[in-house]
Amino acid sequence: MLSVKNLSVYYGLIQAVKNISFEVKTGQIISLIGSNGAGKTSTLNAMLNLVKRKGEINFLGYDTKRHLPHTLVQKGIALVPEGRRVFINLSVEENLKIGAFNNDENYEHLKEQMYKLFPRLKNKKNSLAGNLSGGEAQMLAISRALMSEPKLLMLDEPSLGLAPKIVSEVFEIIIKLKEEGITILLVEQNAFSALKISDYAYVLENGEISMQGVAKELIGDDKVRKKYLGL
Ligand code: ATP
Repeated sequence: MLSVKNLSVYYGLIQAVKNISFEVKTGQIISLIGSNGAGKTSTLNAMLNLVKRKGEINFLGYDTKRHLPHTLVQKGIALVPEGRRVFINLSVEENLKIGAFNNDENYEHLKEQMYKLFPRLKNKKNSLAGNLSGGEAQMLAISRALMSEPKLLMLDEPSLGLAPKIVSEVFEIIIKLKEEGITILLVEQNAFSALKISDYAYVLENGEISMQGVAKELIGDDKVRKKYLGL
């Protein structure tokens, strides 16, 4: 579904991502793990051309190079950004409406699907997004992304700052989305939870891929266990 070759991301003179290559196969959950500042967010943002980048990114056969972010969303890539970034001065329902910017005709149907997936959002549909708890805001951020009916859903640190019980709920939802046929590219510092639900994973270190492999095998790898799983 997604093929990335020799990707580099720059912020002025700083090179945050250094010539990395990876693939995301249809129907799988792929995770990028790594510590703070390893280049995970920069990599996700590069998929939507939100940052200055070099290299080739191919999504379902399209070269994404000259496409604007919203065009790439229309083609089927959606991002749940780090820190949720919901529109705090708008209601839950208005946030969902914005997520469906390319999808007016399916809005009502999709909205009901989101309320089925996250019943708590239905109870709060007229509340301001700024008044939601961290977990609810994460659910809203995921729903907003799903309103564009993506083929590839990218999630940036969805567990960040959430209570353990809510983290489990979020990971269960990710598994459910995979079962519904959505391909997932997941960025996480919570490496153990990410590897447990992933098919394949890449480890980013200082902007480079230092390791990759079948997720279950990485969980058993000594270096990964010591450095990223605290085991
Ligand atoms: P985190 O978990 O902290 O988000 P990350 O793995 O997602 O880390 P990035 O946010 O992609 O890493 O950052 C990679 C590097 O790029 C870091 O050294 C960071 O300081 C730098 N960086 C990120 N955004 C910018 C920016 N807008 N301007 C300058 N440098 C940046």
